[in-house]
Amino acid sequence: MSDRVRDDGYDDAIDALAAGEGYYLACPNGHGSLPPRHACPHCGARELTETALPETGTIDSCSTLHVATPAFADDAPYVLAVASFGAVRLTGQVRAEPGTVEIGDEVAATVGESATTGDRLVVFELR
Ligand SMILES: [Zn+2]
Repeated sequence: MSDRVRDDGYDDAIDALAAGEGYYLACPNGHGSLPPRHACPHCGARELTETALPETGTIDSCSTLHVATPAFADDAPYVLAVASFGAVRLTGQVRAEPGTVEIGDEVAATVGESATTGDRLVVFELR
């Protein structure tokens, strides 16, 4: 583990995701956002409700990174994807061989560690 300063809103959300209890923040107008937020980024509503993240999401876009930034140097090559989970989109590493991941694939979100720094990050597993 790194000695990165803990960011409560973000780390609480990662803790919950790691425990299989991931959540997002829903506003009264049906928008979703990821913690930490004090207001809806779409409409500014301040009544945000923690809502369970759907068990699976769908990959919207993905790309294979062969050369990564120093923080992820030892992770490369890896597949980075954006996936929709209901009202929110998550970005994460896909635990799959490059070339085997396609847009529309169903994934579950969990928490893994960077092979480079040991920092926790969002990981997708193909379903
Ligand atoms: Zn909103």
